[in-house]
Amino acid sequence: MHEPDDTSEDHRDLRRAVADFALHEVAPHAARWDADHHIPAEVVTALGDLGVFALGGPEEFGGLGDLTALCIAIEEIGRQDQSLGITVEAAVGLGIAPIARFGTREQQERWLPDLMAGRALAAFGLTEAGAGSDAGATRTRAELVDGTWVVDGTKQFITNSGHELSRLVTVTARTGTREDGRAEISTLLVPTGTPGLLVEPGYDKLGWHASDTHPLVLDGVRVPEANLLGERGRGLTQFLSILDDGRIAIAALALGCVRACRDLAVEHARQRTTFGARIGDRQGIAFPLADLDVMARTSHLLVYSAAALRDRGAPAAEVARAAAIAKLQVTEHAVAATRVATQVFGGYGFMEEYPVARFYRDAKVLEIGEGTSEVQRMVLARGLGLLSR
Ligand SMILES: Cc1cc2nc3c(=O)[nH]c(=O)nc-3n(C[C@H](O)[C@H](O)[C@H](O)COP(=O)(O)OP(=O)(O)OC[C@H]3O[C@@H](n4cnc5c(N)ncnc54)[C@H](O)[C@@H]3O)c2cc1C
Repeated sequence: MHEPDDTSEDHRDLRRAVADFALHEVAPHAARWDADHHIPAEVVTALGDLGVFALGGPEEFGGLGDLTALCIAIEEIGRQDQSLGITVEAAVGLGIAPIARFGTREQQERWLPDLMAGRALAAFGLTEAGAGSDAGATRTRAELVDGTWVVDGTKQFITNSGHELSRLVTVTARTGTREDGRAEISTLLVPTGTPGLLVEPGYDKLGWHASDTHPLVLDGVRVPEANLLGERGRGLTQFLSILDDGRIAIAALALGCVRACRDLAVEHARQRTTFGARIGDRQGIAFPLADLDVMARTSHLLVYSAAALRDRGAPAAEVARAAAIAKLQVTEHAVAATRVATQVFGGYGFMEEYPVARFYRDAKVLEIGEGTSEVQRMVLARGLGLLSR
């Protein structure tokens, strides 16, 4: 079922093209990719050929710089496969965006063409064992020795860091101490295959099985001084400034989940009969599905109003508020929607051969990655002048 769409004709064409690709090239394989814990490189490059990785990228490198378009693509992919959806979201939001926003011309020329064509994936390594929501607690260190950064530390839960298309990990590291005594954190580009960068085996996750997530060890990794991304000491500020786009894009992924759950559950409720009537003719089933319809509509409005604010260059504080509201509300809707959908499917909803079971496992992490629900509430409360201590 389609949401009434007030985006442009170009956006509607894009939605049709990506939805068609996802229906024919993604949906038939999603369960197998989930079981294999792997997304084939061919589907990533096929999405590259469709232009998906370029949607959010800079225009001078053939991109559209259009967050609304990126959200449409992620939503449509996410309706069929959340793992592929997060692969795209992380590739653009965490891989391409920092280089596009803060890279030197040389860094951009080296990395963006392959990343924006889907020929390569880049990851962002911020999280550590003791630094997740509290990213300022980063322990990874980088020292400049004779024109070379020497990096030591570990990173946790890094998406797209160990896929056969992974070519680069952008990492945050302490590069000194600021005048106020707090850690100076900077960002460095570390190409995969650099000696000392160890990509540990992938995690055994509850969901997003096919998405590529690894712990990383940086043991005396040496990269040239020119691999500093953006300004020294601005690593966290830079990361936070790209995170709003990422939060809107995660909300788009969650919207795909809400729509899929509504559509699958409504279809099942129309077909399944018990006690001589369709289950969808009982209020106990019909009303929660009406609620899913409300969630799909409100989620759509939250995602695309936030993306529109960002695309028309609204003030950063307005975008940050809209992004936090969309991320918080739509990801919580997604978790609720999977619970309703599996219940409507009864025992079949617990079986892996039905996609609602996969959506149920995949949804939880939406409330955690790129800022937990609590972190979104912190952002919003601070915007209200609260939580000042
Ligand atoms: C599948 C997956 C993929 C990921 N991909 C990446 C990636 O590519 N790159 C990357 O850098 N990171 C990645 N992450 C990490 C993710 O961003 C963090 O897990 C997330 O930010 C939470 O950090 P944490 O796990 O350390 O939890 P913690 O920060 O330890 O939080 C634990 C709980 O406490 C709550 N909490 C923490 N502080 C407060 C507070 N002040 N007030 C109220 N509640 C609070 C949190 O909301 C949470 O509920 C990924 C995580 C997962 C699971």
